[in-house]
Amino acid sequence: MLETKGYAAQNASAPLAPFSFQRRAPGAHDVQIDILYCGVCHSDLHTARNEWHNTLYPSVPGHEIVGRVVAVGDQVSRHRVGDLVGVGCMVDSCRSCPSCNEGLEQYCEKGFVGTYNGPVFGGENTFGGYSDKIVVDEQFVLRISHAEQDLAAVAPLLCAGITTYSPLRQWRVGPGQRVGVVGLGGLGHMAVQLANAMGAHVVLFTTSPGKEADAKRLGAREVVISKDAEQMARYQNSLDFILNTVAAPHNLDAFLNLLKRDGTMTLVGAPGSPHPSPDVFGLIFKRRRIAGSLIGGIKETQEMLDFCAQHGIVSDIEMIAMGEVNQAYERMLRSDVKYRFVIDMASLRAA
Ligand code: NAP
Ligand code: ZN
Ligand code: ZN
Repeated sequence: MLETKGYAAQNASAPLAPFSFQRRAPGAHDVQIDILYCGVCHSDLHTARNEWHNTLYPSVPGHEIVGRVVAVGDQVSRHRVGDLVGVGCMVDSCRSCPSCNEGLEQYCEKGFVGTYNGPVFGGENTFGGYSDKIVVDEQFVLRISHAEQDLAAVAPLLCAGITTYSPLRQWRVGPGQRVGVVGLGGLGHMAVQLANAMGAHVVLFTTSPGKEADAKRLGAREVVISKDAEQMARYQNSLDFILNTVAAPHNLDAFLNLLKRDGTMTLVGAPGSPHPSPDVFGLIFKRRRIAGSLIGGIKETQEMLDFCAQHGIVSDIEMIAMGEVNQAYERMLRSDVKYRFVIDMASLRAA
């Protein structure tokens, strides 16, 4: 067993605090990784505070993991000691159901094994990336081809990147399309960059007027303050696709009405309580659709990482020490993130 240092929440109202635990020693197919950086996803906060009512405690969040391989099992062929690698939201799945066979492990019919909080359909708890090391089956470890100095800014691609890349590909976003992104947080700022790199005309909808310049720098052609009804009215029936990343319940009609006939709004934000029900007539009269999308499969995650490396895409990050994660959560709740907190794990080793 491997002695591991981490940070955990012991219950829904406790702040995260130092926590030691054991990881398995690497088996024949395992890769042992020294974690260098881990992104802070809003899902970490939802989980630490049991907002989805399924948290197993103690809870060690973190599923935007990058680091260096320090040991491999004797059957491992995809990774070598010294490689820079990533681990995202999943560390295993059944590998035999129809979804797994299609490379869509996130929709595993038996439930994938989350990097933290265990198998989604019950089972033993797993501990995530707010820790100094992790051991993962090689099939769930991603190769990183960005330059080493970008490593910290690559970490958020492992969740925020793939969660936005996958629906943009699924709904075939590309040149000639007008695409709305709702919310400029961790997911939203990746969505703006990715949709722009795919050739779409991106319109960013934000509640924060102060984010306009950043949104344009990241690739948005237009920025709309979503609380301003007059501005919103100008965009009625104008968008082919909307990716909604908002982490809180809100009125979906305000955005659905911006879709053209046959347009789709895909929800990736996963608030702890439901959105008010949308107006059926707004859907019926324009044959509009509401959809959802969950992270992305391992093959597509590798494709996304390679796409980002080719297009020079990384996350805009603010580096924090492990001990600052509780303050970072409070800032995230105020939409005060530019645009992803990333934990420097050297701070955990030094503590
Ligand atoms: P985040 O960094 O906190 O960004 C969310 C953004 O939503 C905020 O920056 C803010 O942007 C906007 N927002 C927040 N509260 C709002 C409100 N009341 N009304 C309107 N807009 C509001 O969070 P994140 O890490 O990007 O995650 C976003 C959501 O996606 C979370 O619920 C997370 O759990 C979920 N998620 C889902 C998946 C999946 O597979 N589907 C994967 C990862 C994360 P502005 O300031 O621009 O308005
Ligand atoms: Zn996440
Ligand atoms: Zn499966």
